Amino acid sequence: MENPMMKYTELEYIGRGTFGDVCRALDNATGGQVAIKKINLQGPRKKELKVNELMLMKTNKNPNLVNYLDSYLVDGQLWLVMEYMDGGTLSDVISETYLSEDEMAAISRECLQGLDFLHSNHVIHRDVKSSNILLRTDGSVKLVDSGPFAQLTPEQSRQSSVAGTSGWMAPEVATGQPYGPKVDIWFFGIVGIEMVEREVPYRNKTVSVPF
Ligand code: ATP
Repeated sequence: MENPMMKYTELEYIGRGTFGDVCRALDNATGGQVAIKKINLQGPRKKELKVNELMLMKTNKNPNLVNYLDSYLVDGQLWLVMEYMDGGTLSDVISETYLSEDEMAAISRECLQGLDFLHSNHVIHRDVKSSNILLRTDGSVKLVDSGPFAQLTPEQSRQSSVAGTSGWMAPEVATGQPYGPKVDIWFFGIVGIEMVEREVPYRNKTVSVPF
């Protein structure tokens, strides 16, 4: 019910995702920084997707997942207020510098802890990639982007919907086969290759998928 424009002061635009813009803002009460993702809620499918994101972000809190703080509906937009990660994405870091083996190992451990947490709650991330790994200058490493998260249940212990980003996708996800949490390990394997090679394998190759 609160007006977020009274609660937060916008400082700068950070970036654009598929569903809207992200900005850095100040929490007027605490003086701390937050990131606000402003999502256009046009069309029922988008609404469903984003409510899914919201619910899963709310219930899955962990030091290796970007923490969700608040949400608001503002003029047909859904505002998601998250903790601000001041180190940018792993993708930015990879494109600007070479990581040492120790740094790769530390980043891998943090990401795998986040995935282990999700998997122990029967959630598949399904979009692990370097641009969905955010860093903070205090050394924290967190997974973000719960848009394609899938919650497994005793009735539905496998998924078969195609989700994620093509270069990182496990074959069973790309071909619409039933899959479980193991696919996140494939996605993360591609992040491992990104960290070493500084590019995604077969980036410019055309893939023919046998449906
Ligand atoms: P999609 O909408 O498909 O998930 P995306 O993951 O590229 O796309 P967003 O999650 O909307 O995009 O984020 C856009 C950009 O904003 C990111 O590339 C990142 O640089 C920045 N960003 C997102 N969340 C945060 C955050 N919590 N702290 C700091 N920067 C962030």
